[in-house]
Amino acid sequence: MKKDKFELLIEQLEQIPSIGRKSALKIAYTLAIENKVLALNLAHCLEDAVNNIQRCDICGGISQSSLCHICSDESRLYRGILCIVGNPKDILVIEEANVFDGFYLVIEELDSIDFKNIIANIKSYDVKEIIFAFSPSLASDAMILYIEEYLKGENLKFSKIAQGVPTGVGLDNIDKLSLSRALESRTKI
Ligand SMILES: [Zn+2]
Repeated sequence: MKKDKFELLIEQLEQIPSIGRKSALKIAYTLAIENKVLALNLAHCLEDAVNNIQRCDICGGISQSSLCHICSDESRLYRGILCIVGNPKDILVIEEANVFDGFYLVIEELDSIDFKNIIANIKSYDVKEIIFAFSPSLASDAMILYIEEYLKGENLKFSKIAQGVPTGVGLDNIDKLSLSRALESRTKI
């Protein structure tokens, strides 16, 4: 038997992070019954996003073209500060907090690190400081040590966002104020 269309919609919505069955049901009702215009606009936006949003060639963040708006801004590339984050979402979180004006690099896993490319960027944009903005965990500490070790000949200052960011919590779950404090009072490592 073919699945009920309403049930199918609920099941899809339930797969979105932080949406449980109850919320999925509410949203499905809004979209399918109460606000069909919103539903169609959303469908269009989703299709457009899926087809046109990609990863930036320089930082790996999300972008509408091969270079994101941050990496297209030369003044940010040449500010001398690179902030390394663990997830493209974290760039959005830090940008929202409005506390950083350099450029970013997303490093998701140890084995995906392209040091050749990182060193080339460090040289071409004259980077003097690297800030690690990983959410604290043993794995991220190990990653920081590894990256630092690899880049130690590049004459860089290394720092990481200050304590106060709880261990194991993603940056997107931290309020803006705590994040800006963590960045401003970053500690030298
Ligand atoms: Zn970028």
